[in-house]
Amino acid sequence: MAFVVLSGCPSSGKTTLALKLRQDFLARMADESYTGPSWEVVIVEDDIGVLGRTVYSESRLEKPVRASLLSEVTRSLSKRTIVICDGLNYIKGYRYQMNCAAKEAGVRACTIHVATPPEKCKEFNRTRAPTEAYTEETMDALLMRFEEPSSMARWDSPLFTVGWDDPSPPFDDIWLAMTSAVKKKANPSVVPNGQTATDTIQTLHSATSTLISHLLSHLSLSPLSPHLKLPSPPYPPSGLNLPQRTITLSELQRLKRQFEGIQMNGFKRGGEGVKRAGWGEKEWAEAWVRFLEVQWGVNEEEG
Ligand code: ADP
Ligand code: MG
Repeated sequence: MAFVVLSGCPSSGKTTLALKLRQDFLARMADESYTGPSWEVVIVEDDIGVLGRTVYSESRLEKPVRASLLSEVTRSLSKRTIVICDGLNYIKGYRYQMNCAAKEAGVRACTIHVATPPEKCKEFNRTRAPTEAYTEETMDALLMRFEEPSSMARWDSPLFTVGWDDPSPPFDDIWLAMTSAVKKKANPSVVPNGQTATDTIQTLHSATSTLISHLLSHLSLSPLSPHLKLPSPPYPPSGLNLPQRTITLSELQRLKRQFEGIQMNGFKRGGEGVKRAGWGEKEWAEAWVRFLEVQWGVNEEEG
């Protein structure tokens, strides 16, 4: 269903973040207001075996570790699973391969860069048990070789950057990217001429409200219908699948607030969210339809 690639220097806090992220995903799915599918959340780690972190001191030893991590990831990716790859993932070409695996499996992917400064990594490294720690030399060599993820690279995006001291990592945005983003869509990276953030926010409100009015008038005629036809564009040609139960106006208002809140947060936070400044009616409409279907557990792609 989704694939999160962590990338960061040795002892930067990747495993710490992977555990927090899994907690966050599980808490969202356990929330009583959540009605979407329950995905399994799997953390796949580099299996360094008895050699410990010294495998990273020699490329001869490191290669098989990378190969086995990639094949473990490939095995784990499925429609029912959120896979978090907890490894250094510091080689650009390697992250590209991971991204291809995700595309092949038809799952959404994102990259999280744990951006801890080298000096801080070294400090963390010194606090680790000797069996877990990297040697000074390995540490220096890896810091030197590290190829930082970039949001300009197709295979790294969407990219979220998290600082070691960030008290609230962008989990809302990550969740949204993993569950509702339109798959393999080329994101506009520049804001089209003349378009301002205010225009974009108005377009967002208008896309959400218009769909709600279509839906309410449809439900007043056929309250338990499984599907709503929508004008396309801006809405997707497949329309909107509906849950087989009563939908109340207050539920719709709550979902609208939730969706807009998450979108606006991402928007203000900058980074990946800023791309939404270039979104028009169609992008918002598609994201909103997908969001509702995922919340209701009726998205055909997600099963
Ligand atoms: P990695 O998986 O990137 O090698 P870990 O998550 O295992 O890093 O963290 C390495 C060490 O640094 C651990 O001892 C961990 O407790 C410590 N650590 C990680 N993140 C933080 C943080 N934000 N604040 C303090 N200590 C941290
Ligand atoms: Mg780790």
